[in-house]
Amino acid sequence: MRKFILLGFLLVLCLALCACGEGAAQPGTEAGTATTTTTPTTSTPPTTTNPTTSGHEHSYTQTVTAPDCTNGGYTTNTCQCGDSYVSDEVAALGHTWTSATCSAPKTCTVCSATEGTAAGHSYVQGKCSACGEAQAGYKALTACGWRTAGLIPSGEELDVITLWLNGEDSSIGAGYYAPLSALDPDLQEERLEYPEDLVDFNGEKYYSKGFGDFRPASYTEQGDTVVLSVLEDEVVGTITMVRTAANQYTVTGITGKIIDSTITSCLVVGSVFTAVE
Ligand SMILES: [Zn+2]
Ligand SMILES: [Zn+2]
Ligand SMILES: [Zn+2]
Repeated sequence: MRKFILLGFLLVLCLALCACGEGAAQPGTEAGTATTTTTPTTSTPPTTTNPTTSGHEHSYTQTVTAPDCTNGGYTTNTCQCGDSYVSDEVAALGHTWTSATCSAPKTCTVCSATEGTAAGHSYVQGKCSACGEAQAGYKALTACGWRTAGLIPSGEELDVITLWLNGEDSSIGAGYYAPLSALDPDLQEERLEYPEDLVDFNGEKYYSKGFGDFRPASYTEQGDTVVLSVLEDEVVGTITMVRTAANQYTVTGITGKIIDSTITSCLVVGSVFTAVE
């Protein structure tokens, strides 16, 4: 009977031990699960802060947009949370204009905007006084075959110096123009038969009367200055003319004998010659 009790005790003990072993294994498993649960907990902080958004302090990054000619400038302040606002607005700078040139309207040096139209060229003596561009179609003295001097008022009559400048045949002569109305009617009719000798001046007709032979002349041209030299065996006189407008010249100097001693005075310094093609 005693033996049975002992066996029973042992069995109970054994069972208890077995149960114990099972129980000891369980906590180990439980500990592993606990670790796995902590991992999500570590990645959660952002989510955990979410509910406290009201307490988030914005930290703004500034982006400056500079003003230009036509658009104002400003600073954009952006927080990582997506919140943003604009500050420090400044007005547009406006254009920085340069004056219009002959060929371009006034232009902004910053953005190249233009306004208005080009100024156009101002031609003087065959070239633009502003930009130096050559005038299309302008003929310098040397380009013309021959020229007739302009009329030079001298009392009631008009003295004239005629210059034929035609390469080797260049010559220089003198004459005068008188009002046609000053002649007898018969002579007026006679003169009218030679229209090439008549000239209209200030609304009145003048007839020409040349005298003396035309004398050989040569000329040189340098820039706007033309020097005519009257030749016999050698240079006996010169006329210096300066171009003052397109194909117009003003006498700036006379030396020696131009036509002959008696009529040289018909040409004076300051006389204006207009080139005629
Ligand atoms: Zn923020
Ligand atoms: Zn501009
Ligand atoms: Zn120009």
